[in-house]
Amino acid sequence: MKRYPFCDLGKINAPYRDAIMEAMGRVVDSGRYIGGAEVEALEHEMTLLTGARYAVGTGNGLDALRLIFRALIELGRLKKGDGVAVPANTYIASMLAVSDNGLRVVPVDARIDTLLIDPEELERVAEREDVKCLLTVHLYGRTAWNDAIAETAKRRGLIVVEDAAQSIGSRSATPGLAGGRVSGHLGHAGAFSFYPTKNLGALGDGGMVTTDDEELAKTVRALANYGSDRRYHNVYQGQNSRLDPLQAAILLAKLPGLEAENRHRRRLAEIYDEVIAGEGIVKPSLPSVPEESVWHQYVILSRERDELRRRLASKGIETDVHYPVAPHQQPCYRGVLTGSYPVAERIAREAVSLPITSLTSEEDAREIGRNVGGYKVMRGQG
Ligand SMILES: *Cc1c(COP(=O)(O)O)cnc(C)c1O
Repeated sequence: MKRYPFCDLGKINAPYRDAIMEAMGRVVDSGRYIGGAEVEALEHEMTLLTGARYAVGTGNGLDALRLIFRALIELGRLKKGDGVAVPANTYIASMLAVSDNGLRVVPVDARIDTLLIDPEELERVAEREDVKCLLTVHLYGRTAWNDAIAETAKRRGLIVVEDAAQSIGSRSATPGLAGGRVSGHLGHAGAFSFYPTKNLGALGDGGMVTTDDEELAKTVRALANYGSDRRYHNVYQGQNSRLDPLQAAILLAKLPGLEAENRHRRRLAEIYDEVIAGEGIVKPSLPSVPEESVWHQYVILSRERDELRRRLASKGIETDVHYPVAPHQQPCYRGVLTGSYPVAERIAREAVSLPITSLTSEEDAREIGRNVGGYKVMRGQG
């Protein structure tokens, strides 16, 4: 039986094997194992990719987010206890970065058609609560930025942080606060992750902060390096979260393939959209501008999720669930996040992620899409 892997990282990285080995050899020979030319080169590439003026490598994506919030506090732009609006259906790392800094997580429910933060809910929350900041999450690779969100952010004077961990290279039809068009350059600062399964994945952990704000970039860099702004001079009680030069070199080796990879994912999403038809299935809407998503995941909703996944598995089709528990319902937030967020809770119950990597061919997507059938499709409702 043919098998349709959900995500086979060894095979995904195989085409880059020679380039990766060459890049690693370069680092070994350089004798420079913290910081250095490879990290600087990747930071430079990320300024070119996003359009942001500064990029600072970090140990991982969660730290990239945590360091942004910590820097905003150190600079007096946020203070402990301030509310940060966060989509209720995000990966939990987004919320951990906020609560870990003594900021208050204010979950905002999602829309069922985009699976992104609901602009109307954001508007309501921003009116009602002491919210000073929006952490917008470009979940599943789709840019969570549009006219309504931008309007709320501007009118309420919100600091906008982007969780771009899943969205490297995605664009926005609505200009960012400083006119940017690429995720990571729409708000005041963006956080990227190079976790191995991300669209641009390392062979270990890695992350990056992007911003136009020189003071913020410098503060993040210092905080990530023991709070030190120059050697043996510690202005903050910082941490150690630096991008590993081996990972930077590997990422530089893979970066030339990113655009084709994102294009391929977009094509697969179009095929899924064409082919998937069945009762009780909700497909994501296709963005009006295709470049708005880099389709880190293609997530459908099904009331009969377990049944559907079993049926697909029996045909050799692997699926996954992102994410089975909404973060506010995790034990770590019990008694802390007590509201109910029906759309996020429904997504956690019904989400199924279909294969959408370089290992999935267009023909595979057709076959997988056909096999999803047997249920009636509803788009953004039901
Ligand atoms: C992966 C991810 C993170 C965290 O990145 P790590 O590099 O794993 O720390 C944060 N937010 C979202 C939405 C993610 O998908």
